[in-house]
This record gives sequence, structure tokens and C-alpha cells, in this order.
Amino acid sequence: MTETTETTGTTGTTGAAGRTVRAGRRSRRPRPLRRLAMPLLLTTGLCLGALGLTGTAQAGQAQEQGRGQGNGKGKATAAIVDSTRHGGRTLALTFDDGPNPTDTPELLEVLRKHRVKAVFCLWGDHVRQHPDLVRAIVRGGHTLCNHSMNHDDMGAWDEERIRADLERTSAEIRKAAPGAPIPYFRAPYGSWGKSPEVAASLGMQPLGWRLAIGDWEPPGTDELVRRVTEGVTPGAVVLMHDGGGDRSQTVEAVDRIIPQLRAEGWRFEKPARRG
Ligand SMILES: [Zn+2]
Repeated sequence: MTETTETTGTTGTTGAAGRTVRAGRRSRRPRPLRRLAMPLLLTTGLCLGALGLTGTAQAGQAQEQGRGQGNGKGKATAAIVDSTRHGGRTLALTFDDGPNPTDTPELLEVLRKHRVKAVFCLWGDHVRQHPDLVRAIVRGGHTLCNHSMNHDDMGAWDEERIRADLERTSAEIRKAAPGAPIPYFRAPYGSWGKSPEVAASLGMQPLGWRLAIGDWEPPGTDELVRRVTEGVTPGAVVLMHDGGGDRSQTVEAVDRIIPQLRAEGWRFEKPARRG
């Protein structure tokens, strides 16, 4: 791990509402013939019924995960993951402290444009304020990570206190996005204490990082681009921030980093699932 510090930066989280995410596809047909109305209604009813069943199954699965059954791929361990699954010229982008109504939607648009999936380590209080953005993250195909409720330093906490916080955070995330897996936990400030064992018992793999770029300062977009492109090592999990302050420089940097690194033969992956 290159750095052990992480930032809070509790200021500057307010701002204009983020861009509205495109609504789902319209299903209403124009001027349906009367004689077709009944079959159409039946079909619609069946589809909704199937959706309802799926939603219930997903919710049940989520509850199961919360009881320590992992996320359907075996149990989590207490080892802190800081690399991608395949190593080599791969890296994993992770974004902490959101969701943030100003910068998270912009970041999601950048990632969509470049077809990169990332991990979002969510701050429970921010989840409660912006549940719609959690759903937008899930719709974008990204992975969720529990980053605690209030971004406290848990380094000296006992297991019960950590467990209560992590469970509360996951409950907020699941309320916002029912059924979405939460396969990772990341300790605020990288101050792990007893949290890796607790996270593992709740089915979440502790997620560390190998490269932090200090984007909480923030030092300017050019400097952020330089820190990633010159600092990245094979298989690195990279820590950046989409919340906790003005992260517009981070978003701009990501938009430049992805094509630049791809041109150099790098691929973007998810972090490894187990330590
Ligand atoms: Zn953080």
C-alpha cells in the first residue's frame, strides 16, 4: 500500500442537483386497438408479476448476504484486497466518499463513455441523502462497497461497534438499491483496526489500495493524471474520490487517464474478490 492516509473532506458536498439519469424505456404503445387491449393487459400483468418475483428473490438473497453468506461466490476473508484478479497491465478504479450530487453523475457519464466499470465505496450518510445516485451507480454496472455510516476512524473500536455501523450502512445501501450486492468494505482513512474480520463475517471483503493520488487536496487535473499514469503498477487498485468535496478535477482526470493508459496497453478490471 503506497499510502495509508485517506481523507474525509466534509466540506463542499452541497451543490446543484446532478444530471437526471435517463429514465427507463417507455413501454406505452400509441393508440392500441381495442381488440388488442386485453391480450396486452394480460401480457403486461404477467411481466409485472415476473418482475415482482425477481425483486423478492433478490431481496431475499441480499438478506442472506447480510447474514454472512457472502455474495454467492463463497465466504469473504479478512485479508485486505489491493490488487486486481489477473494482475499484469491491469488496474482497478475505486471511488470513495460518495454519492455526491455534483460529481458522481458526471463521473458515471465518463465511465459509461469509456466503458469502464469501477467500485464505489459509499458513505452511509450520503447514501441516505442521495439514494437515487446509488441506483444510478448500480444501473451503470458498477460494484458497491460499504465505507461506513459517518466516515469515522474505526481503528480503536470494538467489534460490536464496528458491526453495528457496517450493518447500518449496508441497510441504507439496500434500502436505496434493493438486491444489489455489496461485496466489499473499505475502512475510512485505511484505519482498519478490527474491521476486516467484522466485514468478512458480514460477507464483505476488505478492499484496500496500492495507489492513492491525493485527490482530496485537489492539486489540479494535470497533476492527478500524472500521479496515476506514472504511479500505477501492475494489478493496482487505485483510490480516488467522487465525494467529500469538489471532485471535478478527479472526474476530468479520469476522462483523460482511461484513454491514455489504454493506449499504453493497460486494461481496467474489478479488484480481486478474495484476499
Ligand atoms: Zn473515505
